[in-house]
Amino acid sequence: MIADAARAQVAATCRALRAEGLVVGTAGNVSVRVDDLVAVSPSGLDYDDLTPGLVGVHRLDGTPVDAPLEPSSELPLHLEIYARTAAEAIVHTHAPASTALSCVADEVPASHYYTAMFGGPVRVAPYATFGSDELARNVAAALEGRTAALMGNHGAVVVAGSLATALSLVRYLEYVCDVHLRALSTGLPVRTLEPAEIDRVAGLLGGYGQSIPAGPGNR
Ligand SMILES: [Zn+2]
Repeated sequence: MIADAARAQVAATCRALRAEGLVVGTAGNVSVRVDDLVAVSPSGLDYDDLTPGLVGVHRLDGTPVDAPLEPSSELPLHLEIYARTAAEAIVHTHAPASTALSCVADEVPASHYYTAMFGGPVRVAPYATFGSDELARNVAAALEGRTAALMGNHGAVVVAGSLATALSLVRYLEYVCDVHLRALSTGLPVRTLEPAEIDRVAGLLGGYGQSIPAGPGNR
């Protein structure tokens, strides 16, 4: 059975997302994979009431193993990402800056060197209805070679090797999106960094043990 610690991490991460203003109400969702099982936040439950035992456990095909409540409506998104990447943890938010940018941009360019944390400019996945298989496919494709993607007219998603790293990354992603929006709002041209510089920064951050998860398709 999946570790109780994993279910507790999911519950704690959900509460952190709301406390930090990265989601509103019961929006957003969180999962972590342990071997061939996934612990995922349930649908529509107030995060104050989310105990570890209410975090659902599913197989990688979605079959419930121990799921007292309906899983997040974005379970297909989480499962598609686990099927296509080496991600061990996923955090999806509706944070304001990343969501705003998802409504006006096709990618978040390398305007800040933190872009290196995400493997390069963060793509915006084309819009599709929440919970749909089409959305799951669009977002998984946008994550190719990245640790983050924006979801058009919807929100943001990050993948990592652990939930702690995913939570850290999603904070940095929101910061980078906020900075880019402010730069755009000046109406002046936004300078961006060359790919070679982003690669150099990625090496420096990695060298200092920063939170850049590695894995096939997930750099
Ligand atoms: Zn959502």
